Amino acid sequence: MSGIIQLLPDHVANQIAAGEVVQRPASVVKELLENAVDAKASDIKLIVKEAGKTLVQVIDNGLGMNTTDARLCFERHATSKIRQAEDLFDLHTKGFRGEALASIAAIAHVEMKTKQDQEELGNHIVIEGSKLTSQEVAVLPKGTSFAVKNLFFNIPARRNFLKSETVELRHVLDEFHRVALAHPSISFTLIHNGSELFNLPGSNRRQRIVTLFGGKTNEKLVPVSEDTDLIKITGFVGKPEFSKKSRGEQFFFVNDRYIKSPYLHHAIMSAFEGLLKEGNQPSYFLYLQVPPHTIDINIHPTKTEIKFDDEHSLYAILRSAVKHSLGQFNVSPILDFERDANLDTPYQYKDKTADFPTIEVDAGFNPFASEKPSKSLNTFGSYKKDIAQANWESLYVGLKQDTEELASFSFESTEVTGSLFDEQSSESMAHTTYQIHKKYIVSAIKSGMLVMDQRRAHQRVLYEQFLTNITIQKAASQQLLFPLTLFFSTNEIQLLHEMQPTIENTGFIFDTFTADAVQISGLPLAMAESEVSIVLEELINNLQNEIPESSFSQSDTIAKSMAKSLAVKSGTYLTDKEQENLVNSLFACKEPTISPFQKPTFITFTVEDLDKRFAL
Ligand code: ADP
Ligand code: MG
Repeated sequence: MSGIIQLLPDHVANQIAAGEVVQRPASVVKELLENAVDAKASDIKLIVKEAGKTLVQVIDNGLGMNTTDARLCFERHATSKIRQAEDLFDLHTKGFRGEALASIAAIAHVEMKTKQDQEELGNHIVIEGSKLTSQEVAVLPKGTSFAVKNLFFNIPARRNFLKSETVELRHVLDEFHRVALAHPSISFTLIHNGSELFNLPGSNRRQRIVTLFGGKTNEKLVPVSEDTDLIKITGFVGKPEFSKKSRGEQFFFVNDRYIKSPYLHHAIMSAFEGLLKEGNQPSYFLYLQVPPHTIDINIHPTKTEIKFDDEHSLYAILRSAVKHSLGQFNVSPILDFERDANLDTPYQYKDKTADFPTIEVDAGFNPFASEKPSKSLNTFGSYKKDIAQANWESLYVGLKQDTEELASFSFESTEVTGSLFDEQSSESMAHTTYQIHKKYIVSAIKSGMLVMDQRRAHQRVLYEQFLTNITIQKAASQQLLFPLTLFFSTNEIQLLHEMQPTIENTGFIFDTFTADAVQISGLPLAMAESEVSIVLEELINNLQNEIPESSFSQSDTIAKSMAKSLAVKSGTYLTDKEQENLVNSLFACKEPTISPFQKPTFITFTVEDLDKRFAL
């Protein structure tokens, strides 16, 4: 009786294998760039259309292939890079599995042109879904060009699984960054949809980092250097004061290959211990050289995870090397990151009303300074005053007398230092609020007592306000006399650019974008100029983490992020007027009871609750 097991035809086997190697256009970018590097190219051009969904092309000036190899390179397990199993432990090339081209050719339309230096003519080959459709000799320049078109054309499920162009392009850029950082002496160009995103001349590591991540990066880098028998470490870590909430710029290269290693990441984090603001991430660009026989790269098809023989020693060496550099370059610990909010109370506004914010321009403004700005609460001023009053007063019916009595006691925060608000706005509400520990606002209400968390309450107020502004596309801006220029990485700039219309609905005005900077000429009313960089940084980070697809979730993310960044922090002293305005604004909200992050904004105690406590 014949069995039921059959050998899969090659093109099916290739399609299955392709699933491991090629998840998205960025995987093709990685494999093709690495092949060009292995072919010893000194100049590599990456051309991408629609984030690689319709075209990924890599043109190199490397060694090229002869006629036989040009055909053979598309076979599975066809490689020029290793000959025997032992070679796996002495790798000096990016590739060695011989399956990338076979996999890519199984799931796309591939056109390859290649010529070796010493040959007169080159080869031009077209392969579609593993089938050779044409092979011709042609007059070609030295090197190789791979054009991969219509990725996943024969696997619609995979194609549909691809994310938006924004997301896919971000992955492409990540791969491009990784290869470009690993090989600074090679010049790289990246062209997306016809426009040049990067043109990186061959240079050294430091210059490469700076050209990729923007001119301001240079001053942030601290060199790291260590040489032992086990490992040689070179590269840079970012100064702690430039750390960010996002994990954007963190790179390990082992023998010139980008790798991911949570374990070694931990070594860096522990070297930075005590130097970083909570939740912040340092940037690092670390190049590790280890003897090839002490690592195993072949544990993952995409070769981004590797196994070290002596991980524990590497951890210790790396940690001490980074610590040493931070110490040597006099990067002193910054212990108190939270500003003293007391100093932020805008005393200079004493007795002024807040009809319209004045504009102050700080000529010495440093967008990277980590100190936080003075907080202006003037957005409460006119916020739906009528509704606020109505809601609020209903809590107070019959209370007036009691509160007047209470007011004669001296509480910890009754001292009035200034007002940002309309004097009249609170006249009709002669109730008293007390701020406790610069964190809670307490007040008597009809049924008993209310305790409000000032930060969460303000988050709710700002969130609804921003969301309304974004959806009705009508936000007031404060015009800056001198536009601000802020620097970000190319990825971040791109994100801001894409989100520009939505972000501008909050009141920002972005004038011009360059590869690594944005010029801002208008700000939301609630925002001080010194807050801009931190607010945008947090916004970018939140957008990157959420990767919102629908426009509603984008608006929601932006509103939440800005509300969180701009809300008064715990520890901020609020004047009586500010307290009252906060309370009024909160009760004018659609959902006053919870913060945008689903936490309660206030709690109440009824008189019975209190009676019970005293009855004990
Ligand atoms: P691997 O890189 O693991 O060897 P690939 O499928 O990526 O496997 O490539 C197969 C072979 O094709 C390589 O070993 C190399 O000999 C050849 N090749 C691929 N790309 C290029 C290129 N850009 N220039 C010259 N040769 C190349
Ligand atoms: Mg390869």
